[in-house]
Amino acid sequence: MKILSPYRNCSQWFRGNTHTHSTLSDGEWPLEKVVGYYRDRSYAFLAMTDHDIFTDLSGFATPDFVGISSNEVTVRGRDHIVGLHLTGPMAVHTNHHQRTVDEIVAQGGLAILAHPNWSWMPEAKGLALHGVHAIEILNVVCNYLEYNGYALQWWDYLLRRGLRIWGIAADDAHRIPYQGARGWIVVNAESLSAETIVQNIRDGNFYASTGPTFQRFEVVGGAIQVWCSPAVEIRFLTGAVGNPALRVKGDALTHAEYTPRAGEAYVRVEVVDAQMQTAWSQPFFLEPDWRP
Ligand SMILES: [Zn+2]
Repeated sequence: MKILSPYRNCSQWFRGNTHTHSTLSDGEWPLEKVVGYYRDRSYAFLAMTDHDIFTDLSGFATPDFVGISSNEVTVRGRDHIVGLHLTGPMAVHTNHHQRTVDEIVAQGGLAILAHPNWSWMPEAKGLALHGVHAIEILNVVCNYLEYNGYALQWWDYLLRRGLRIWGIAADDAHRIPYQGARGWIVVNAESLSAETIVQNIRDGNFYASTGPTFQRFEVVGGAIQVWCSPAVEIRFLTGAVGNPALRVKGDALTHAEYTPRAGEAYVRVEVVDAQMQTAWSQPFFLEPDWRP
């Protein structure tokens, strides 16, 4: 069996938010104030994703902060696709899922399926799309609005069927501070630029969180090993319905490992801390037929 780790263990981790609104669409705060809010909280990167508007954030770059120019594209009402790291406006507003993903990809961007539960999108529709890089496994504003911001089951549905797709937590903040800095991703990279952040998201070299941190991931001797901030539970999930494949409990756990078993197609890791906050790793994909 071969274990494909998305993690490269670069020297630095950068926290950021990939989904945010301002008065350019239906957010309450102007763009500059929103950027300042995240900068003040030591975010290293931020994407502004006002509805159907391309927002160029390249002018906000400093040595310890980068903006990622983006757009949240509406496709038929409540279906939204975030185009992360675009070069300009969408050429045409097609109102078509696959054509929207295709244009985001053609611009060199990442296509992120936003808040699938709030959209009432059937999982099979997500499965049929080609070229989507990630889905929002936590969209904070949707918990504020309708308590349907978590999409872990949605993610496992796609992963179980062989889709290699990453999981993102994002604020989708419209009302700051209430919806700000509550769900984020942390990207592992050798340096900070819009390009290095986007490339490492593309490769899955990041994790999602509402609090805990991962420090390191290793694959050693057929085992997946993780190191994290003090946790009360670390669990390894393989998409099987029911219990996780391994659930480790303690008071201040900082390390755990799991050896994948025959028949498993992927393993992902969740860390829960004493405040009941969670960090989610990206999936490690398993290739059972691989021979050295
Ligand atoms: Zn949004």
